[in-house]
Amino acid sequence: MERAIARIDLGAVRANCERLRAELGEARLCAVVKADGYGHGADAVAEAALAGGASSFAVATAGEARLIGRRFQHVPLLTMGALGVEELDMVLAAGSEVAVWGEDFRAVLADRARASGRPARVHLKFDSGMGRLGTFDPDEVLALARACDADPHLKPAGVWTHFATADEPDEDEGYFFEQLDRFEPVAAAVGAEFPGITVHAANSAAVFRSERSHFDMARCGVAIYGLDPFQDDPRSRGLEPALSLRSYVAAVKRFPAGQSAGYGRRWRAAEDTWVGVVPLGYGDGVRRALSGDCDVLVGGRRYPLVGTISMDNLTIDLGSETEVEPGAEAVLIGRQGEEEIRAEEIAARLATINYEVTCGVTARVPRVPGEGR
Ligand SMILES: *Cc1c(COP(=O)(O)O)cnc(C)c1O
Repeated sequence: MERAIARIDLGAVRANCERLRAELGEARLCAVVKADGYGHGADAVAEAALAGGASSFAVATAGEARLIGRRFQHVPLLTMGALGVEELDMVLAAGSEVAVWGEDFRAVLADRARASGRPARVHLKFDSGMGRLGTFDPDEVLALARACDADPHLKPAGVWTHFATADEPDEDEGYFFEQLDRFEPVAAAVGAEFPGITVHAANSAAVFRSERSHFDMARCGVAIYGLDPFQDDPRSRGLEPALSLRSYVAAVKRFPAGQSAGYGRRWRAAEDTWVGVVPLGYGDGVRRALSGDCDVLVGGRRYPLVGTISMDNLTIDLGSETEVEPGAEAVLIGRQGEEEIRAEEIAARLATINYEVTCGVTARVPRVPGEGR
């Protein structure tokens, strides 16, 4: 029996990509597989995304580019993040396309591309209001595109931006559409001078929010994993959660009233009860802040997590009578029988977002392909 596994339903990833492709119509799907595929295992997920109709990949870092670029040599790859010179060499060697938003970096890139022996494909980043990477100046975008075009070692391949509030339709007071209004003329100007350049803006939330954001391609991460971009029920949008976090009940013990469980004695049995010990803890990414505020599925039923979560173990209250036996499967995220605990539920309890929940499953937990049940 495995102490703990993250079971990854690759069929779900494939179906989620097909779902996004249907939403996108003519626009292409770029599967975002940064942060080890949002904690799902980048390699396997990338393969499934291709099967589901993705036509390119995006990552954030040079290390990620190396892993994906090596494995999928013929699939276009974009490294979206900022890069130092050494990282740039690594990214170019991986065959990745590169994001550019300033002349200094463009000049360095031209030099490194020349040294690498093949032209670098450049995606010019416009900051339409995210307030992160990219230039706020529309003229600079066009100037950079021209400079890339004039340089034998560079080729303008994309013009792009990123939304700050696509996932918060209730709070954003139209900011999403303001960003679109700012980006559209920039994309049109660059597109007119460089026909065939790829215009892209949408993340997962934007794909569902407005068709106007689709342009030539969408960069989708969270939705391909079946996580809901709006923190609702992913199934309401036709998305299927791909990750489940599974362990088992290693011991079932009779607790007399007053017996405490775990460090600090933060919980004590109010009456005689049975307690199950599950060998999973914050060392696996089950955040300690969930202590006393989380359920675990065993035998298709919810049981409350009690006591403080340790690095390697947690405890659940099975009640005064129980049929649960040692060896029974325990599910922290995912389905069991008719019950389900979604990453969105855990995120809400932690006042965070589903992205952080799956990214937080640590490297100690093996990712195993399989169905979610
Ligand atoms: C992570 C990221 C995405 C993917 O966003 P999702 O909300 O996961 O779809 C797209 N674009 C950029 C620039 C990103 O950093």
